[in-house]
Amino acid sequence: MQIHQSIFRRLRMLALAGAWVLITPWANAEDIPVMTARQVSPSAWYVEGLLAAGSPANQNFISNAGFVVTPQGVVVIDALGSPALATRLMAAIRKVTAVPITHLIVTHYHADHIYGLQSFKAAGVRIVAHRAALAYLNSDAARLRLNASRQELAPWVDAQTQLVEADEWLDGARELVVGGTSFQIKPMGPSHTPEDLAVFLPHEKVLFAGDLVFRNRLPFVGQADSGHWVRALDDLLALHATVIVPGHGPVSKDVLEDMQLTRAYLAHLRATMGQAAKNMEPFEEAYQAADWTRFEQLPMFRFINRMNAYNTYLLMERDGN
Ligand SMILES: [Zn+2]
Repeated sequence: MQIHQSIFRRLRMLALAGAWVLITPWANAEDIPVMTARQVSPSAWYVEGLLAAGSPANQNFISNAGFVVTPQGVVVIDALGSPALATRLMAAIRKVTAVPITHLIVTHYHADHIYGLQSFKAAGVRIVAHRAALAYLNSDAARLRLNASRQELAPWVDAQTQLVEADEWLDGARELVVGGTSFQIKPMGPSHTPEDLAVFLPHEKVLFAGDLVFRNRLPFVGQADSGHWVRALDDLLALHATVIVPGHGPVSKDVLEDMQLTRAYLAHLRATMGQAAKNMEPFEEAYQAADWTRFEQLPMFRFINRMNAYNTYLLMERDGN
C-alpha cells in the first residue's frame, strides 16, 4: 500500500513536472525561437525556421518565409506555421521597411506554411496561390490536419485558426510587377504538392523554391509526385539562380550542389522502392534491405524516412517507373 502510494506520489510529481515543461517554454518570451530577417540580395530577405517538428515550444516555427522589398510594396512568400508567427514576421518586415505589405504568395498549402495566412489577410494583404490547392482545402485531410494541429500546437494553433483561401487563384504562370520589380511566379506541381509555386526574381536571380528544395534535413515527400518533382528540379536549375531560399533550412548560394540533396534523395527512394514494387517484394523487407547510410544522419530522418519510403513504394506500385 505504502509502495503504491509512493509510486502514485511520484507519478503525480512527474505529471506536474511534465506540465511545467510543457507550459514554461512559451510562458517565457526568451525561450521562443528568435526570428531574424536575413538579407540575401539587395531587395530579398528571409526568416529561417527550426529544423524540427512543430511543437508548442517552437510556435510551429519550422519553415521559412521570404519577403522582397520594392519601392511601392513588400511581397511576402509563405505565411509560416501559426498566426502568431505571421504577426512576428510582419513586425520583422517593419524593422526593415515602412513600405506596406501588398501581396503574399503561397508556395503550397502545407500547414507549416499557411497557418499564418489569417494574420496577413486581416492586414489587407492580397493572397496569391495556385488553384490546385482548392482540392486540398476542401478535403477532409485539411480539416483533420487542422483539428490535430489545434491539439498538438495549442495555444498557437487553436479554434480561432482557420484555413484561408487565396484572393487570386492562379491557373498558370504569372508575372507580378510591384514597384517596378518583376516576380515570375511558376507553377511547379504536381511535385511536392499539386499546387507548388516557385517565385523567381530575375533582376537579382533569387529563387524562392518552397518545399521543392530542402537543405540540411530530410525532405518531406508525403503524397508527392516524386517523378515530376525530379523534373521540376531540373527546370529550376535552368533558371541559373544565384541564391535559393528553400522552404526549410538555410539560404543556398551553391545552387547546383544544394539542389542535389533533394534530387539525390528522391532518386534513391524511387530506385529502391521502384525495384521492390516491380519485384513485388513486400515493403517491410525492401525498407530493411535498402541502404540509407547517405541520408540517415540528416535531421528528420527518423521521423519521416519510413513514411516517405512507404508512400514512394505505393506510388511506384501504382504508376511504375
Ligand atoms: Zn511542404
